[in-house]
Amino acid sequence: MKSIKIPNELKKMYSIFEENGFEAFLVGGAVRDVILGKEASDWDVTTNATPEQVSSIFKKVIPTGIAHGTVTVHFMKKEIEVTTYRCDSGYSDGRHPDNVTFTTNLEEDLSRRDFTMNAIAASLKDGKIVDPFDGQQDIRKKIIRTVGKAYDRFMEDGLRPIRALRFSSQLGFEIESETFEAITNSDVQENIKSISMERFRDEFTKILSSPEPSVGLKAMEKTGILKMFIPELADCRGITQADARGFHEFDVLDHNIYACDGAPRENLTVRLAALFHDIGKKDARTVEKKAFDTSKPDELSEIIHFHGHEKISAALTRPILFRLKFPNALIDKVVHLIEQHMFFFEDFWSDAAVRRFIVRVKPEFIEDLFDLRYADIYGMHRIPVAATSPAATSLNHLRDRIAFVQAQKSAVSLKDMAVNGSDLISIGIPAGKKIGIILNELFQCILDDPNMNEREQLLNVAKKLAEKY
Ligand code: ATP
Ligand code: MG
Repeated sequence: MKSIKIPNELKKMYSIFEENGFEAFLVGGAVRDVILGKEASDWDVTTNATPEQVSSIFKKVIPTGIAHGTVTVHFMKKEIEVTTYRCDSGYSDGRHPDNVTFTTNLEEDLSRRDFTMNAIAASLKDGKIVDPFDGQQDIRKKIIRTVGKAYDRFMEDGLRPIRALRFSSQLGFEIESETFEAITNSDVQENIKSISMERFRDEFTKILSSPEPSVGLKAMEKTGILKMFIPELADCRGITQADARGFHEFDVLDHNIYACDGAPRENLTVRLAALFHDIGKKDARTVEKKAFDTSKPDELSEIIHFHGHEKISAALTRPILFRLKFPNALIDKVVHLIEQHMFFFEDFWSDAAVRRFIVRVKPEFIEDLFDLRYADIYGMHRIPVAATSPAATSLNHLRDRIAFVQAQKSAVSLKDMAVNGSDLISIGIPAGKKIGIILNELFQCILDDPNMNEREQLLNVAKKLAEKY
């Protein structure tokens, strides 16, 4: 390809650069994605204008990354990251360039970029491509290759190996062999360890948001990076769970990884929950010898159990996600889903049982929990759950039952109750712990029988309970 099509906004932007005597190119992911025939997600522009000059020629400019020569220009309702040509000199900490030096040479700027496919520029004027490292050829061959010697480039910045894995997962590209070898080099491995958790988390999140996270996760395992950052997950390798019942075919690590593939791509909460949902199995595993085939009572088979693993998984996941610096609200949701993932709906559940399920899971988590269940089933054999399968039918039935119970407007939270703590105090029950216990008992009564949610009736029960305690 000699040139790509430049969007109108960027052409208009170019005319401002040009009027002021500057040049400007689209660069990085946007060019890569257009060459791949995809829509670019965001626009990075590189220019010989300094950040001060960019700020003076455009109206609305925010100094978002001024230390790296980056400003964000608001232009024709778009936010465009504009970075001055840079050539970075030395990375003695393996993370930050010792000196960010500006240059007036585009090729010098391209040579500091990580991979050949990310080191292609296209003129904002006419889309003409500048590709000094044959990035287009690598894109065609679906290859990830560093600009320059992989070892040196990875020693400059320990995040780059993880970016390589992330791009391979996002794009379905192979990592070229020398580049891959360098990731496992012991110096490079030490350097990877020094990156900040925030930078790791951002790349890890992108792996989890790729079409099949298993590609990146397996590459993480193969290169030792999984053990480095999430040893608890890496330790699930070899924990077998296939037994005579035929539910599972994979070990716990592969099952978790494939379950993650089976979770909705746009839902990071469920992808994380799927990836960690069985991590506690290694601590819960027990083996029972029993006759599986009733016609052959003497033939003992091994049956593998993981009693209570969902609680252990939840307890293990919280500190992992905390360490990886995910936001607390997200951690709470993921841990809650993992804790609740072992529900088994049966058609004979009473309405009270359905109400208890809603209370336990919380209404806002029900759809995510169903998605987690679909992901869990997918992770057993890597086969999507058919709409007519018993599992899907059962979940649909539960969904209908939930809708039915919710339409009755029967209390499903403490705040829907016809009495509150003050009401209990007003009939002479002393303020304190006892109030909470009694309110909870009243709530259980309502779950069993919504007709009980009536002030006088509840206060009568409360009086009796107060005598009992
Ligand atoms: P995405 O689609 O995720 O935005 P991207 O290639 O645009 O992918 P960014 O992280 O937005 O990735 O970075 C923009 C460009 O900056 C990259 O294409 C690459 O040229 C360069 N770059 C980013 N991070 C590094 C790094 N750690 N080392 C070298 N170059 C980098
Ligand atoms: Mg980008």
